[in-house]
Amino acid sequence: MLLELERRRVIEAARQARRDRLVPLTFGNFSVRDRDTGYICITPSGMDYDCLVPEDIVVIDVAGNRLDGGRKPSIETPLHCRIYQSRADIMAIVHTHSTFATAWACCRESIPAVVAEVAMVAGGPIECAPYRPVGSVELGEVAAETLRDRNAVLLANHGVLAVGRNMDEAYVNAVVVEEGAKIAFYARHIGPVCAIGDDECLALRRTAVTKYGQQARP
Ligand code: 13P
Ligand code: ZN
Repeated sequence: MLLELERRRVIEAARQARRDRLVPLTFGNFSVRDRDTGYICITPSGMDYDCLVPEDIVVIDVAGNRLDGGRKPSIETPLHCRIYQSRADIMAIVHTHSTFATAWACCRESIPAVVAEVAMVAGGPIECAPYRPVGSVELGEVAAETLRDRNAVLLANHGVLAVGRNMDEAYVNAVVVEEGAKIAFYARHIGPVCAIGDDECLALRRTAVTKYGQQARP
């Protein structure tokens, strides 16, 4: 089977997102790009993650053409393709409708960087892309424009898009966005939020890139 390991990784991420309550029902989608072929393995549209088998994961090229798998790919295939086209470093995408982050997206407000991990992931607030309809090519355009060189972006009245150099990283980024959104929500209810300043956010991002974890990053 074409890219069986990658297809299995996509299923595992989708199921974990359900367990971690990042995704209600099937309102999210997941993909991995293979380094050698450039092909993308993406979840099928609207299928229960617990029932997925590797054959259900659709293999497409970066233009969105289906290469393998009989299922209809995610409705957000144009979004995933546009993001992969815009950044060569991105190898995995996690799109969720996680509750707290989506609440900020419904206010079309950035999630302020109130905790270090948000700055470490995003280098600043998690910005919100303008509203575009679900599944549209335009949604991909505004998401890529707003994401720039960051690792997560909000989609207005919709959800979260997190990216990474592999699925582990994209998944962590999606979790950090939701936890950061939750903390910022509670903080705002306690009183005025004091976000971390721009320069400090960039310094924290540099720390994440050069020092955090077990392996120094390039
Ligand atoms: P799919 O099930 O087609 O991936 O759609 C879910 C979703 O999140 C739409 O934005
Ligand atoms: Zn969605």
